[in-house]
Amino acid sequence: MTDLSAIVSEIAAEMAAAPDRGTPASYIPPLASVDPARFGIAVIEADGTAHVAGDGDMPFSIQSISKVFSLTLALGAVGDQLWTRVGREPSGSAFNSIVQLETEHGIPRNPFINAGAIVTSDILLGRNAPREAIGEMLRFVRALAGDEAIFIDETVARAEQDTGYRNMALANYMRAFGNLHHPAEHVLGVYFHHCALAMSCRQLALAGRYLMAGGINPETGRSIVSAQRARRINALMLTCGHYDGSGEFAFRVGLPGKSGVGGGILAVAPGIASIAVWSPGLNERGNSQLGTLALERLVARTGWSIFEPRG
Ligand code: GLU
Repeated sequence: MTDLSAIVSEIAAEMAAAPDRGTPASYIPPLASVDPARFGIAVIEADGTAHVAGDGDMPFSIQSISKVFSLTLALGAVGDQLWTRVGREPSGSAFNSIVQLETEHGIPRNPFINAGAIVTSDILLGRNAPREAIGEMLRFVRALAGDEAIFIDETVARAEQDTGYRNMALANYMRAFGNLHHPAEHVLGVYFHHCALAMSCRQLALAGRYLMAGGINPETGRSIVSAQRARRINALMLTCGHYDGSGEFAFRVGLPGKSGVGGGILAVAPGIASIAVWSPGLNERGNSQLGTLALERLVARTGWSIFEPRG
C-alpha cells in the first residue's frame, strides 16, 4: 500500500465517523432521501493510479459539477465568444440568486452559478433539439471517464422540472434581456438533465483528468481542450466553483474545485491528481460539509495546495 492509499483510506474512515455531517438538500425531493451517512472519495493520479475508498463507487447526483463539463462543451462550440454572454467574476451570492441579473442586464456573473449554466445550456442547444443536446453531454462525460455506464437519473431531472421555479424565473428573466436564444423550457430541459447526471466519485475523478493534465485525457492522449483553456477553467473553478463559499474553499483547501448540491465536489491538483469526494450533507453555503473537510485533510497531508511551493 502506498502512502497515498493509506491517506485516502484514513480520510474515508475519519469521515465515516464524523458526527457533524451537514444537511442534504431538500428543495429537489429525491436528493432529500439520500443517506447522510454516505461518504466516498476517489483520487486518480497523473499516471492513472486510482485510490478509491468508502462509497467511492456509488453513483450520486452530480448536480452543479456538471457545469464544468457543459462549460467545456459550450466553449468548444462557440469559443471565447461565450464570454460576451457570461462573466468571469465570483458572484458573492447564492447559487440561484437573481438580484445581480437586474443591474447587470441579464449577463450572469460566471458560468458556475445557475444563471450562467443556463446560458451555457442555451449555447449547447445551438441548432439541436433538447434531446440531442442532452445526448451530446452524456456522450461527452462517458468518453471523458471512459465509462459507458454513466447515466442520467430521470427521476431527479423530472423533480427539478416540477420544482425548479427559481431556475424558470432566471431563464425567463435572461430571455427578457435577450441573453437566452431558445425557449426557456427547452434550455431548462437541457440544464436539468445535465444536472441529473449520476456518477460515482471514481467516474467523476476520471472525467476530470483533462483538467489535471493540461487539457489532455491522459488515458487516450486525446486533446479535450487547449492547455490555456484547461488553465482558465481551473481558474474559474477556484474563484467561482463554490458559489459564495468559493473564498472559504480556496482558503481551506487551495485547489480548483466545483461543488454540487448532491454533495459532490470535483477538485483538481494540476499535474498531480484529479479528485472527487461525496457526502450528501451540505454546509450553510450549500457545499458538501464532509467533502470539504476531506479535501482539506487530503491537501494538508499531501501538500497538494496550488499555493504550496513546488519541488
Ligand atoms: N440543479 C441544481 C439547481 O439548479 C443545481 C444546483 C447546485 O448543484 O448547486 O438548483
